[in-house]
Amino acid sequence: MEPLKSDWFLNQVPGKPMGRYAHIVLLRVTDSYPLFQTDGELNTSRVQAGVRHSELMTRLALFKRKQSTPERLVGRELLRRYGFLSGEPADGKASAGADGLPICDYNVQFCTRCPDCITYGFALGDSGSEKSKVITDTAYSLTSYDHSHEAFTLNAPFEDGTMSRHGTVTPRINEQDHVQPQVIFPGVVTTRDLTEPLFLYVLNNVLRTRRYGAQTTRTGRLRNQILGIVLADGEIFSNLLLTQRLYDCLKDAGAIHPPDPVSVEAAMEAAETLLPELLQEDNVRVDQLLMGDDLAAMVHKMAARGGDGEVQQLLSHAFADSSAYHETWIAKPKKK
Ligand SMILES: [Zn+2]
Repeated sequence: MEPLKSDWFLNQVPGKPMGRYAHIVLLRVTDSYPLFQTDGELNTSRVQAGVRHSELMTRLALFKRKQSTPERLVGRELLRRYGFLSGEPADGKASAGADGLPICDYNVQFCTRCPDCITYGFALGDSGSEKSKVITDTAYSLTSYDHSHEAFTLNAPFEDGTMSRHGTVTPRINEQDHVQPQVIFPGVVTTRDLTEPLFLYVLNNVLRTRRYGAQTTRTGRLRNQILGIVLADGEIFSNLLLTQRLYDCLKDAGAIHPPDPVSVEAAMEAAETLLPELLQEDNVRVDQLLMGDDLAAMVHKMAARGGDGEVQQLLSHAFADSSAYHETWIAKPKKK
């Protein structure tokens, strides 16, 4: 079995871009009815259905923050769960809680030292910022908007069960557009110049995040099926190209029958065949393509973590690397 090439990764996060790109190629698959709205509407984009099947199609668009924010929050929850960050909220003064742990309050007060701050970046107004080393781009549904969404009417009737009173209809009828189950969003999560522990921190977040979309809904399940890990000297293909080329393959194989959902198994198989082809067309040097059984073994090992303190160990290594970066590049030199 071939494991992930540990020696390919840098020993410390550099201050300048060094051209080490580790990509996670995946299919994001909805498991229930997530709500991915912006201002009450789903985002759509009119693009070609495939590259060869060049007819136009309106697709659901999943903006980058809707993908990365839930993944960040899962990682930050783990950092608190395993005693690396304080659970206390920021009060604008203290940088550590009563427990002696750093306070890192998302979008309120970033600690500038934890794996989340260093990998995904932060902005602190005048007092500095750190560029994200995790690059996520808008993802597109494999199938058309028409066959990927459902509008639910949420009725909020009066106590007598009617929707009108004194001849006027309640304004409490609200229509919301949900993404249907088994809708596939092919995508790539790119990391730049991370150490292996920080890359594994990001991968662990991608594997463990199950809930995306509006926080108020209980129906936001989505699972990430990892297709491959690609270590390369540059950025690889875009989410849109992956989606369109996958559409071509599945269309030719007779696997697309709207309004039926596409078989996730068929999509995974087609994408596994497609991945090496796409990489060959990209003008980058690929140092490793981990997929199939080798990848499954690695993902299985990560999923089986727990119990024996392996999560704690993963976070501890990641925290050591992010702290080292903080000391070298962020902390102000102490006055003598
Ligand atoms: Zn932090």
